[in-house]
Order: sequence, then C-alpha cells, then structure tokens
Amino acid sequence: MSNNKPMPVATQISAPFWEGLKARRLLIQQCNACDHWNFYPRRHCTACLEHDLAWREVDGAATLYSYTVTRIATLPDFMDEMPQKLAVVELAQGVRINTNLVGLAEDEIRIGMPLQPVFAEVDAKGNRLLRFTGVDKDAASLERPPAQDSEPLPEVSQQPPARQIDLNDGPALQTLVSEQFSDWSNVVVVDQALIDTFAQLSGDDYWIHTDPERARLQSPFGGTIAHGALVQVLQSRMKLALGFEITGFSTQINYGSDRLRFPAPVPAGSRIHSRARVKKAEISARGTQVTLELNTHVVGQDRPSVINDLVILYLA
Ligand SMILES: [Zn+2]
Repeated sequence: MSNNKPMPVATQISAPFWEGLKARRLLIQQCNACDHWNFYPRRHCTACLEHDLAWREVDGAATLYSYTVTRIATLPDFMDEMPQKLAVVELAQGVRINTNLVGLAEDEIRIGMPLQPVFAEVDAKGNRLLRFTGVDKDAASLERPPAQDSEPLPEVSQQPPARQIDLNDGPALQTLVSEQFSDWSNVVVVDQALIDTFAQLSGDDYWIHTDPERARLQSPFGGTIAHGALVQVLQSRMKLALGFEITGFSTQINYGSDRLRFPAPVPAGSRIHSRARVKKAEISARGTQVTLELNTHVVGQDRPSVINDLVILYLA
C-alpha cells in the first residue's frame, strides 16, 4: 500500500492513544481525582485541573454529534476519499472526537445516530486512525482501505451490442462523428507506487513526481503529481464503451496524436477515468483513419487532465 497522506505526529502526551489504536484499542484519559473523562490527551484534567490522569480502555460506543460532507479535498492527497464525511462524535463517556465516518451513504447519516469505532489501517507500518460507522455495519471489513487497483468493469452482458461498421463504409463511418462523449470508463487509481515505477522506467524522476515530502512543502500542487505521459498511457487500462466496432481490417495502428494536452494535474492517489468521442473519420489512400478525442479526468473533476486526439489507422 502506498500512502502519502499526512499522519498525526504522536507526542509524549498523546502517544498512548496512537499506540492503543495500533492494537485496535481505544484509550481515553480519565481523571483519578474526579472521574472526569478527557479528550484530546492532556497533562491535566479539564474539570478539576488535577495532574492525575489514567489511560483507560473504552468500547467506543458513540453517537453522531455533528458532521459535514466535503466534496473538495482539503489536500490533494485526500482526493481519493471524496466525498469525505467529516464528523464530531460523542463517546458514551461524554468526550467529543473529530473523525471521519466510513461505510455510510450520505442518506444514512443522521445527527444522534449510534456509532461504533473502526480502527482503520492507513499504512504498511501498522498505524491506524480512529473512524466511525453505523452500528449495523461490519466495522472489521471497513478497517482495510478499498482495493487500490481498478474497479470492476461493468458486466459485458449489460453493455449494448457494439454496432459493426466496415472500414470501407464511408457514410456509416461519418455517422460516428459526434460532439457527444461516451459514458465514463472504469476507474484506475494512480498511486505513488505506480508513479515511482514510471519514473524509473522513463528516467523522469523529477522531485515533483517522486518526493512526497519536498512536494508537500514546495510544489504548487501541495503534493506529488503523476507524469502527464503516465496518465496518457493509462488510457490503455480504461475500457471505453464506444458503442461501435470497425470490421474488415487486418491491422490496427496507433498513428499518434493530432493534439496532446495536460490541462490539469493528477495528484498521487487520484482515481481517474476516461471518456471519448469520434472527432473525425476518413478514408484515405493509407487506410481508414479514425480520430478519437480521448479525455482523462480525475474522478469528480470537470477539467480534463489529459486531452488526446488519438489517430487510429485501420489497414485493410
Ligand atoms: Zn478531574
């Protein structure tokens, strides 16, 4: 698992809380003098000011005090989690905790609803963050992040049969030309591991792609971004439902691009998808040439990250 997300830094005072989460235990401080529960971790009790606090394990039963749904990432590293359900939950002990709700659809969330803790795995080092979900959900299954690879393709049987067009049928080819884009393809995750592999392969290991720490401090994008060329070639991993199929050719050749632009960055961790339309179709002495305008976007973003007018040559 690759993860560039900023993580809480444990202090001497808060370390027991974070160590507890690693062991899937929720530890909260209770005052030995007055029994008051305290959160966030402190040196003294907020009720009686005594410096006699003990860490005690609680079961994490909570209710939802307040929440908001964010659709714009607070940092580029969180783009893969949009929309985020940021919440304040109140434990049965009375303390309130800032957290995220997981495994809940927006219309399932109600102020006051009972919640249970999710000890969410966030990296390969065993760190966990405290999140919450509904009491009717399977909290254990929410501990692991969703698979980092592509989402499943729609069932083939659900797609309408492709229209077959002979490569020499000029009038039929012209009917493919449209301003209308296809539906979105499957989603592909562009994580730091993939970017690092491409940096190695291409030799372009510039820090804006490969150094998350420096990029967080110095890059105008607030984190590492994928190479434009990487995002361009990932179009091969995306299945487009174009609704037609050219027939009668012996060879199909990628003839290059009429136009290639990278208008928007793809931050590490982004989910991307593509759509396309036929921009031009022509029969020439060389063969039949179909120009697809392929646009790749970060999921949820209006502005494309790649615009590629891809020319495909079909040879009889
Ligand atoms: Zn106290």
